[in-house]
Amino acid sequence: MNLIPIPAFSDNYLWLLHDGQRALIVDPGDAAPVLRVLQENGLQLGSILVTHHHPDHTGGVAELHAATGAPVHGPAREAIPEPFQRLQDGDTVQTLGLDFQTIDVPGHTAGHIAFYTPEMDGRPLLFCGDTLFSGGCGRLFEGTPAQMLASLDRLAALPGNTRVCCTHEYTLGNLRFALAVEPDNEELIGYHARCAALRDQGRPTLPTSLAQELLINPFLRTRQATVMEAARRFDPAAHDDNTVFAAIRQWKNQFK
Ligand code: ZN
Ligand code: FE
Repeated sequence: MNLIPIPAFSDNYLWLLHDGQRALIVDPGDAAPVLRVLQENGLQLGSILVTHHHPDHTGGVAELHAATGAPVHGPAREAIPEPFQRLQDGDTVQTLGLDFQTIDVPGHTAGHIAFYTPEMDGRPLLFCGDTLFSGGCGRLFEGTPAQMLASLDRLAALPGNTRVCCTHEYTLGNLRFALAVEPDNEELIGYHARCAALRDQGRPTLPTSLAQELLINPFLRTRQATVMEAARRFDPAAHDDNTVFAAIRQWKNQFK
């Protein structure tokens, strides 16, 4: 299997997975670069997976569906281009010989879903849209901090070796904030250096792994003493799981 992040717009990745003949695409905000990759590699598009309704994730769906006939699978509770199979939590999409499980992850949008398969070339694989980023998480446009924390908790419970395919190259900006939260986190300092080197070479920092994120991502570490203390420096009222998470999210929103 080949897993390819197709760059689009200023910082999106449209994730394409293929076996040399058939492909799936996740969150095609633009059709043109996907059609180009399909054509260059002689691939037939088997499925279009959509995590949430934002235009940078859905802008190419109708054109790709029209051009290839590939079925569209998306969140049951969101408006994306019709027709599509409406997925509820726990529903499965079978494609490329893989079973992708639907995980409800509200927070960034109200009906946001993620796609998880327990085994692809020996490791689990997660397409998480704008819920989890390397070193960060999505902004809360339609959800509460408690919802987003519960969603991230579900993702954090997946196996540590899960490859995590995030849809934006936000890593270095996120890590700059993460270092403000946890300046003494040695793993974070090393990870930041490795990611900066990748970006200097024009390479993606993604996919990341869940084990890596658990060590460096402040939004997965809000129950660590270091992160709780930092949250209280920003907002002295932060006192429990949800208010600490909310404080870290608010701090990131204001961080320059
Ligand atoms: Zn989004
Ligand atoms: Fe996005």
